[in-house]
Amino acid sequence: MTRHIVCLTFDFDVMSGWVARGMTTPTPISRGEFGIVGARRILALLARYEIRATWFVPGVIIATYPEVCREVVEAGHEIGHHGWNHVPPAALTREEEEAGLIRGNRAIEELCGRQARGYRSPAWDLSPHTVDLLLAQGFDYDSSMMGDDYTPYRARRGDVAPLEEPFVFGEPTRLVEMPISWSLDDYPHFEFVRTKEAVLQGLMPTAGVLQNWLDDFRYMTQVADWGVLTHTCHPFVIGRGHRMLMLERLIEGLLEQGAAFATMAEAVDEFSGRSRPR
Ligand SMILES: [Zn+2]
Repeated sequence: MTRHIVCLTFDFDVMSGWVARGMTTPTPISRGEFGIVGARRILALLARYEIRATWFVPGVIIATYPEVCREVVEAGHEIGHHGWNHVPPAALTREEEEAGLIRGNRAIEELCGRQARGYRSPAWDLSPHTVDLLLAQGFDYDSSMMGDDYTPYRARRGDVAPLEEPFVFGEPTRLVEMPISWSLDDYPHFEFVRTKEAVLQGLMPTAGVLQNWLDDFRYMTQVADWGVLTHTCHPFVIGRGHRMLMLERLIEGLLEQGAAFATMAEAVDEFSGRSRPR
């Protein structure tokens, strides 16, 4: 029997992404704050379609907005770990990264009664230690890498990448990787960011992005009997009016094509059940 799963995931950064970049003046903070407006719109939309999603939340945001985060939990959504703050692990020492995982998990446990099963790194940049640390902290899955599109896989540890010699693959671990991609992320399509170093143009009309996203699902139904497609959205990005209409059209279009919506933890369990020897 064929089954095609869609995981809607929301990286609930609010202002933490801007703070991590040192952008702490009132305007970038307010830009992040719009994520609270967006989150409430998203919660209402998901409730209307009875879809449960996965929200990756930095610990500092749980501490800043405990009530909104409780609303997310009470609506039946999964909470994933998104760092204590929004500093990418590759910029941290092993000790700092470990401390952030523990502190973030404490906040998540206080919020929903259990530690997170899943992790997504801020800005999708894992450190060489991340897989080891996630295993040691009891995580079941990560969702930060791009080695496949519709098929979860086992994250490796101990890779070596010599410049002049063939790549050396480390051993696969029990950690399930739920792959993502920038093309299925709202941020690069829609967010306008100007810094001294670069300009991210963003501000794309929604129609083309919607078509790409629906076509990625359509292609999965053509090439795979079972698969998972993961969308990554940020409440402060997707929460704007025309993008909320796009999100609703996406849900409608996916339902028409037979999509089964699931939380990421549910999709991981299904993958693990399928990949266990029978
Ligand atoms: Zn984020």
